[in-house]
Amino acid sequence: MHTHWHTYTWDGLAIPTTHVRARASSSSPPFDPADWLAKPFDLHRAVLVRASDAESWLNALLTDLPALAGQFGRAELLSRTAKDLDAGRDVTWRYRTHDARHVIAAAVRCPRLEHPCPTGHFTPSVEPCRSTAALP
Ligand SMILES: [Zn+2]
Repeated sequence: MHTHWHTYTWDGLAIPTTHVRARASSSSPPFDPADWLAKPFDLHRAVLVRASDAESWLNALLTDLPALAGQFGRAELLSRTAKDLDAGRDVTWRYRTHDARHVIAAAVRCPRLEHPCPTGHFTPSVEPCRSTAALP
């Protein structure tokens, strides 16, 4: 399966405790973006196959859950996001809304070795070492 991104959002009035966030079974945002892939599937928003789709998704999120004015420059944020996605990296946004909610959104690259694809279409594997170099 080709590289794709899974997108996730969480919003709430208070960010959950460290203890709760670390649990894979909780619906709280994880610390490591890769761990979103192991969270309950109802947090999963979309599978996007092109970096530009993920950029569009994150851009639309700023319209649906607008950030409190003055937190960051939207154009600069989107530019940095585009560079990260084009390079195949994860992107995580964290910001506040005008009604005091916290928003955490992520576009998480897949496949990866840490977790299987949450759609079940990809199983991670490690290629066996095939070195044929002669030992001295
Ligand atoms: Zn996947």
